Amino acid sequence: MRKKFIAGNWKMHKTTAEALTFAASFKALYGSASGVEAGICAPFTQLAALKEAFAGTGIKLGAQNVHFEEKGAYTGEISVAMLREIGVDYTIVGHSERREYFGETDETVNRKLHKLYEHGILPILCVGENLAQRDAGTAKAVVEAQLAADLRGLGAASVKLLVIAYEPIWAIGTGRTATPEEAQEMCAFIRETAASLYDADTADSLRIQYGGSVKPGNAAEILNKADVDGALVGGASLVPEELIGIVNGCRPLP
Ligand code: 13P
Repeated sequence: MRKKFIAGNWKMHKTTAEALTFAASFKALYGSASGVEAGICAPFTQLAALKEAFAGTGIKLGAQNVHFEEKGAYTGEISVAMLREIGVDYTIVGHSERREYFGETDETVNRKLHKLYEHGILPILCVGENLAQRDAGTAKAVVEAQLAADLRGLGAASVKLLVIAYEPIWAIGTGRTATPEEAQEMCAFIRETAASLYDADTADSLRIQYGGSVKPGNAAEILNKADVDGALVGGASLVPEELIGIVNGCRPLP
């Protein structure tokens, strides 16, 4: 049985002081939300403070990016060992904003995944098509190609632990959400693709989140779909009450 996982992606938001204010409220709200995994993927400068703030709560901590080399002359970059020292649980890899604005490619995504597994940090791998690709009917082909390239060389034991976030680019920050049926269809397709790249057991174990304009008001109907194992939440994760509303959306519909 896959545990639902709601992860906030703060992107480039919040100072450390603001992060700690969030953490104090969110901890109190999450206390009653057992059975659902929750985490925050924060900017690098807030990770150490949040690690301390979340200690003993079960709330997971994630980074939003990492470099694929062990160490070296890469000004401005952060290594996996640096994240591991802080005690980061997850790292987002291949977010569409990094692919679009910062030159992330399937090749660098693949190298980052390998490096993270080497150090025992679990990736949240983002995949998803843009609007032109969806309109052209190539969304599944795009996602399938991303998965094949991004996962190259990874073993089934690693992929079983993977979190994949299906984030259709046209739904990110736009207020336009995929319908629950569209989210389910692509998440099921991702699972089928994992089964063909690996095996049924691996596909059944890995978790697939939906991301793109998830809010408390639309969370439950998306999160109750069979192949949707959680959400990667941008804007709504900045407000403790909204994020907990999404966590609560993981409870079964009456
Ligand atoms: P929004 O929830 O703001 O649409 O962002 C989604 C996202 O990109 C999460 O990684």
